[in-house]
Amino acid sequence: MKKIALISGHRGRGTGAVGLQIDEGAETIWLRNRIEDHLCQKYNIVPVVDCDTDNLNTVVKELRHELSKTDICIDIHFNASTAASANGAEVLIPASATSDEKKRAGELLQVVCDTLGIKSRGVKDEASGQHGKLAMLSGFDCVNMLLEVCFVSNPTDSSKYLAKREILALNIARLVSGWLS
Ligand SMILES: [Zn+2]
Repeated sequence: MKKIALISGHRGRGTGAVGLQIDEGAETIWLRNRIEDHLCQKYNIVPVVDCDTDNLNTVVKELRHELSKTDICIDIHFNASTAASANGAEVLIPASATSDEKKRAGELLQVVCDTLGIKSRGVKDEASGQHGKLAMLSGFDCVNMLLEVCFVSNPTDSSKYLAKREILALNIARLVSGWLS
């Protein structure tokens, strides 16, 4: 059976982007944990999750051992910009993405945008981002995607997320359970 890995892209409060309403470092852990709860309780699926004290190198090394080609990994992040107007969700995939990666990333993006009622910024090649090649997308071989849920620097995105985050966790768990069945 395929495995799903849920990774909180950060290690707690103050370790990511900080907005007025959302602290990325804490929120990625909250969202990962809630999706995990739903997968366990509703679908009897135990996801692979990262340990909050591990650094990126350790996480990548462990996932390299844990996951194989057809397994799926979602790395959870929130976006930020110095332009307060920047808004919406996006999903980054490897530069040489497979058709499976493109398809799953599109489905994940759709669920996030529909649930939160925010703009879709599209599925993007990792090379199009500000960081170039990402260890979480190219450091191990499986169906890889990096979710940027919304902008913590945008008040409307942040409010919509906080109002709907419980439903978002549920809807992502439902989507993932469909991928693994
Ligand atoms: Zn991040």
